[in-house]
Amino acid sequence: MTSPLNCACSSGETYANCCKNYHLNTSVPQTAEELMRSRYCAYALHLIDYLWETTHPTKRHLYDKASMEKWAKANHWVRLEIVHADKKVVEFKAYYQKGLAQFVHHERSTFKKEDGRWYYLSGDYYN
Ligand SMILES: [Zn+2]
Repeated sequence: MTSPLNCACSSGETYANCCKNYHLNTSVPQTAEELMRSRYCAYALHLIDYLWETTHPTKRHLYDKASMEKWAKANHWVRLEIVHADKKVVEFKAYYQKGLAQFVHHERSTFKKEDGRWYYLSGDYYN
């Protein structure tokens, strides 16, 4: 889990065999879950442009890169747990640490595929 070779998305794969290809745009996620994993991983690695580009264009006005970067860098991203995934909806728990305190971000995200690419559309938060 803590090996730097393991992808931050907790897939058990190495980064090179997992999210790196998406982050470098040498391949695109084929499923909503793969996109979700690569976005979590992008938070862990502070790849804000990737987060921006995989947010659906009609939803980008709800975000700004500076805030995304602040949120990404303010926390240590411990691990990702996919609770449930179907074609367009992924429920997940993102475990993160801020200082000595541990938190869980529990979200049900909706994704949309357009022109062969998956995008993050919206999320419902638990608790
Ligand atoms: Zn990954």
